[in-house]
Amino acid sequence: MGRVKIIATLGPSIRDYNVIKKMIKEGVAGFRINCAHGDENTWIEYVKLVRDASSDLGKAIPLILDTPGPQVRSGDFQEFTVKQGDNVVISSNPGNGGGEKKIIIVPAKEFYTAASTGDIILYGDGEISFRVINTGEDFVEVVVLNDGVVKPRKKVVIEGKEYPVAFPSEVDRRVFKFASDVKATFVALSYVRSLKDVELAKDVLSRHGWMPGFIAKIETRSGFINMGEIIEVVDGVIVARGDLGLHFPLEKLPLIQKEIVREAIKHGKTVIIATEILESMVNNPRPSRSDVVDLYNSVEDLVDAVLFTNETAIGKYPVEVVRWTRRIIEAAESELSRALISEYRGAIKAMNLLDKYVQGLVLLAESLGGTIVGYSKTGRMPTLVSKYRPQIKVYIGVSNRFLAEKLSIKYGLEITDMSQVIQDNLEKEYEVGVEKLVETLVKQNYLRPGDIVVETYAKPQTSIHEIRIRQII
Ligand code: PEP
Repeated sequence: MGRVKIIATLGPSIRDYNVIKKMIKEGVAGFRINCAHGDENTWIEYVKLVRDASSDLGKAIPLILDTPGPQVRSGDFQEFTVKQGDNVVISSNPGNGGGEKKIIIVPAKEFYTAASTGDIILYGDGEISFRVINTGEDFVEVVVLNDGVVKPRKKVVIEGKEYPVAFPSEVDRRVFKFASDVKATFVALSYVRSLKDVELAKDVLSRHGWMPGFIAKIETRSGFINMGEIIEVVDGVIVARGDLGLHFPLEKLPLIQKEIVREAIKHGKTVIIATEILESMVNNPRPSRSDVVDLYNSVEDLVDAVLFTNETAIGKYPVEVVRWTRRIIEAAESELSRALISEYRGAIKAMNLLDKYVQGLVLLAESLGGTIVGYSKTGRMPTLVSKYRPQIKVYIGVSNRFLAEKLSIKYGLEITDMSQVIQDNLEKEYEVGVEKLVETLVKQNYLRPGDIVVETYAKPQTSIHEIRIRQII
């Protein structure tokens, strides 16, 4: 598998045990449930599908529960077609159309407070836009700017504005409770605006007694402006290009993406690029040229992972998407220039002894053409290894399943849960962990006679970390 990881959003297209199993075999390292859709019954079905398939394959596959956050969506109504120039009413009150005008139900009162005459409203992912021509307490009249089909339960964004919606909402609280019940690996926070939103989410989850990893979706102006403080308190960020494209002019997106990636990498946090990665494959078995180039460029930007949304949730070719992604990642990784890697590493400062040790470990292993094999109890060492974007194979055994899941979406790491193996050898877990992992890798043919193994023993709370070099005989 490539160094850049693949994450798939669950949806009707892959709501099947065999398809999920196939996707994992083809290279999917993690799954996301978009909790803006469905309810606990749907979510639990997805959780079960992923957990069953991953345990049958003996793999630690993380589950990301994506909570809707402070966003405004339309409610339930019968979809209808609109033409440019049509007048439409948006209202929280279904009676407001007077039976004559087409009506879009938007329950959130914050929408009506925020909307003013002249505002542009982007509907869904921006497929349809409207201009506001009149406003009232619980309605907004708009003129349609382009033809399209208005579907229910879609995002409603006012260009250049953010809604002062309270967080967490009722739905967010249900997602947090569910995340705690199923012991989700990560909670992804949509529309995160500041450090405070992350703290509020952590507070609710800690009261439920489960502390997952946290991923902030950077997608609004305030999220982008405050990303420095947000990144400090999360495990990773998602560059949520779908919403970024609604909140910023589209032509600014490439620069914004690069800036978020740079900031996350500087902090040693996981960075995931999402949305319209291989969008052309929603309806086609082959990607468009521009999609291939975009994905290739993300690999060159050294991101940790790419996250598919429509392609795997509602697309016609979810398995082919994964195959093409692997192909493109492998091609890009085989051509990565040394200059690019050096430039990247030049921008990182080793902060402490463990960080310096890991920096040396990666350089040593690369100069020997070796494979890093290590064991980690806390996840600190592999997180740092990944930060240096190793260009050699890295296999890490870890002390528990949750940690294995958490680390599996990080750049360049192949993670194995060793909890069963080390449980009777806890006083020598590092030695036993590495020894058993090497044995397994040899058995599975990932390590062959002649291969050089750079073994790492970085134990917490010590000022001595070891490296051992061995050749497989
Ligand atoms: C996005 O906006 O790019 C995204 C991933 O968010 P969602 O799919 O939740 O709209």
